[in-house]
Amino acid sequence: MNKTVVLDAGHGGKDGGACGNGLREKDIALKVANEIAKRLKAEYEGVECILTRSTDVFLELKERTDMANKTKADMLVSIHCNAGGGAGGFESFTYNGSTNAATAAFQNVLHGEIYSRLKGFGVNDRGQKRANLHMCRESKMPAVLIENLFIDVDSDANRLKRTEVLEAIINGHVVGIAKYLGLKTKQTEKPTDEVLNVFVDGVNVGQGDNLKGVTRGPVRALAQALGAQVIYDATNKRIDVISKK
Ligand SMILES: [Zn+2]
Repeated sequence: MNKTVVLDAGHGGKDGGACGNGLREKDIALKVANEIAKRLKAEYEGVECILTRSTDVFLELKERTDMANKTKADMLVSIHCNAGGGAGGFESFTYNGSTNAATAAFQNVLHGEIYSRLKGFGVNDRGQKRANLHMCRESKMPAVLIENLFIDVDSDANRLKRTEVLEAIINGHVVGIAKYLGLKTKQTEKPTDEVLNVFVDGVNVGQGDNLKGVTRGPVRALAQALGAQVIYDATNKRIDVISKK
C-alpha cells in the first residue's frame, strides 16, 4: 500500500516569511519542499507526495491543514526557516498538547537525519521541541514543523546560501521521511557485479559486465582486435567504430 506524505512549504505569495541577508523564507521552503517530493518519488517505491503549494502562492494555515486532513496522509512536514536572532541553529516542533507516540518517533527520526547532515557545517542543534503551532496542532496525522536555520543570523544565512547546506537539508528530510515510513529504495539500474572476461579468438581483450540483459565490454580493445578503427568523440559523447570493409 502506498504511503502518502504531505509537504507544506511555509509562507508564500504576499507572505514572505522571514526575510533578510538577501534570503526569503518562502523561497527556501518552496525549493526544499519541491525537491523532497521529486526525490522521494524518484528514489523510493510506494510513496505519494502532496504539496500544499508547489508555486509562490499564499495559503492560510487552515487551508493547508484542511488540504492535508482531506487526504489519508501518513505524515506531514511543514518546512520553515527561523528568525529572531540568537546564535541561530536548527530545531523541530511537534504539538505540545496530546500527541501520540508516532508523532514523537517521527520527530526523532526526522530531526536526527537532518541534523546529522548539518552538524558538519557547524550548525547549532536547538533540539526537538514542542509548541502550540497550528500546523502541528490541526493536522490529524503525525506532523512535524522544521525550522531550517535562521534567516536573520549572518552565519546561518551564509550557510543557507551554500548548495551543500541546502543539499544536506533536502537529503536529511528525504532520508528521515523514508526511514520513518519504511520506504524501499527503487532498484536502480546498476550493472551486475558479475565481471565478464571478453575474448576475441581466444585472446582476452578486457572485461565487461551485464546491464539489464545487455552485455557491455571494452569497445576499443574489442574493435581493434577485430581489425576495426575506433574514434572517440568526447564532445558529442560518441564512439565510432569503422569496420575494415
Ligand atoms: Zn515560517
